[in-house]
Amino acid sequence: RINVRKITTSSQALDGLLGGGIETRTMTEFFGEFGSGKTQICHQLSVNVQLPPEKGGLSGKAVYIDTEGTFRWERIESMAKALGLDPDTVMNNILYMRAINTDHQIAISDDLQELIAKNPSIKLVIVDSVTSHFRAEYTGRENLAVRQQKLNRHLHQLTRLSEVYDIAIVVTNQVMARPDMFYGDPTVAVGGHTLYHVPGIRVQVKKSRGNKRIARMIDAPHLPEGEVVFAITEDGIRD
Ligand code: ADP
Ligand code: MG
Repeated sequence: RINVRKITTSSQALDGLLGGGIETRTMTEFFGEFGSGKTQICHQLSVNVQLPPEKGGLSGKAVYIDTEGTFRWERIESMAKALGLDPDTVMNNILYMRAINTDHQIAISDDLQELIAKNPSIKLVIVDSVTSHFRAEYTGRENLAVRQQKLNRHLHQLTRLSEVYDIAIVVTNQVMARPDMFYGDPTVAVGGHTLYHVPGIRVQVKKSRGNKRIARMIDAPHLPEGEVVFAITEDGIRD
């Protein structure tokens, strides 16, 4: 695909699954149960986007929109050091924002266009998690339609941004562990077709033995299906 650039995940296996890494001009969703490694991947990518192209980055900055309060500067520091980068510089190149509810999350997203237009070095926007506030605020069947409508608008806005400014968008989506998750209908596993109609790449992550995790590509139009194993270490995402 023309002009698409990639950001390495620091795992060759995961990069392989993604066709080389996280793509610009695309929204990539990582979904999976609690502790599957979604937030660690987000931390790693906000460091790695800063690497020069020859090392798998875009020499860019990251915007990190944290909805769950799980972002940790210490993790950024460890991951930066492990890559031989200056931790202070790396931390300065991550624009951290805490979204406290859906209205706030949408307001931040409304302001992103202006922020990115003013800061063309921003090459990655992370929303971790994109669904948690929506789920918490719109409970019950009667609110499901409104929730999906609002969430889809939000996701489409992010997708447009990725295309217009040639940036990578990474969102996470926590879903319940289900025995049929890997082999059943993946759209149902995401909990009511939430992100299904939004174009992009969807990767399911799952706990395995110890620090090992399994990542699985879900119906990407231009990538082969498959599963790979990666690890979460003190240094970050690795093989
Ligand atoms: P999710 O966002 O999918 O709920 P996380 O990305 O928060 O999951 O992953 C949490 C896991 O990451 C922990 O269970 C632990 O195994 C691993 N982890 C977190 N911090 C470290 C660290 N400093 N060193 C090694 N592993 C870590
Ligand atoms: Mg998380």
